[in-house]
Amino acid sequence: MTIAVKSYAAHSPTSPLGLFHFVRRDPRPEDVVIEILYAGVCHTDLHVARNDWGWSQYPVVPGHEIIGRVTAVGDKVTRVKLGDRVGVGCMVDACRDCGACRKGWEQYCEKGSTSTYGSKDRVDGTPTHGGYSEQIVVTQDFVLKLPSKLDLAGAAPLLCAGVTMWSPLRHWRVATGSRVGIVGLGGLGHMGLKLAKALGADVTLFSRSPGKEEDARRLGAERVVISSDKAQMKSVAGRFDLIIDTVPYEHDLNPYIPALATGGTLVLVGYLGPLQQTPVRTSGMVVGRKAIAGSLIGGIVETQEMLDFCADKGISADVEVINMQQINEAYERMLKSDVKYRFVIDIASLRAQA
Ligand code: NAP
Ligand code: ZN
Ligand code: ZN
Repeated sequence: MTIAVKSYAAHSPTSPLGLFHFVRRDPRPEDVVIEILYAGVCHTDLHVARNDWGWSQYPVVPGHEIIGRVTAVGDKVTRVKLGDRVGVGCMVDACRDCGACRKGWEQYCEKGSTSTYGSKDRVDGTPTHGGYSEQIVVTQDFVLKLPSKLDLAGAAPLLCAGVTMWSPLRHWRVATGSRVGIVGLGGLGHMGLKLAKALGADVTLFSRSPGKEEDARRLGAERVVISSDKAQMKSVAGRFDLIIDTVPYEHDLNPYIPALATGGTLVLVGYLGPLQQTPVRTSGMVVGRKAIAGSLIGGIVETQEMLDFCADKGISADVEVINMQQINEAYERMLKSDVKYRFVIDIASLRAQA
């Protein structure tokens, strides 16, 4: 079976994404072939397309919030069947044998998990390519089952934005009465508000953007704090058990430390890189037994748990569906925080392109 697909790829950090043809790897006995229907647009796609982190290998076909339908299965596939609605997130494989994998933390695989795009296939070494494409081939253990209640386009962002917020909320045991802060109202942030609220937390949005108050309240926040306003920051001093910071670029973390309750944790999920402009003052951490931590997406079992939770609670992402051909414009809008709150590509528009 030769699976030739159309896709959109970046060929250098500065070139816009454009049409790119390639052949998917031949399906193996444990593989599932998926016709992609929707692909969410994560800020990570933009970071990798533009080589913000310095390790991109071109061409890059981004997309790790994938929703599709099963069109073929290998002989050994038992978890899904033809026609099933499924999802694929940020990983397509891991060693499955190390301490982390055995705990269900494939994202922290000690040998390095295989990313949906920008990695090498563990068996044949071919480059992995993501969801801005017509089809994908994935080993069954990394395919998520989509509960029937979930809307297809609205579910796509759950595969990365959703689980990236869910994993720290669960790890730090957020439950009824927890006080949670979410920094940044973008794709991740808006899922953070919804999920924390559904877990029973009292939720606050920290934003640099005035004017997001009404949306934030609709999405689950009890209050909005403008992070540049010292009086507003002071008004929430000592409040939070957990703050999850989704801001993609370097910013000052010091104002968030006093907002933590004693023993509270600030979890970074957005910015990956050195803090050079504003070093963290450790005194506030030491005095209040406060922590700064990081968190990466989520494991396969917890991703399925999150999808089932969302179906149960009627949660999906707020999406703006776009055509594949609008992706470069969408990236520019994402940089201006001009998206409510996740772009999702309708892959039918790619299929229709000559
Ligand atoms: P997004 O939709 O662009 O949202 C980011 C939000 O951060 C913006 O809406 C804005 O919110 C705020 N913001 C943006 N630029 C800022 C700046 N220069 N200073 C202060 N605030 C700023 O991005 P996303 O898709 O949610 O992704 C957020 C980050 O998480 C990205 O860096 C992405 O690569 C990373 N990520 C990490 C993981 C993980 O596993 N750890 C998973 C997925 C994504 P306000 O206007 O409300 O301030
Ligand atoms: Zn992502
Ligand atoms: Zn492993």
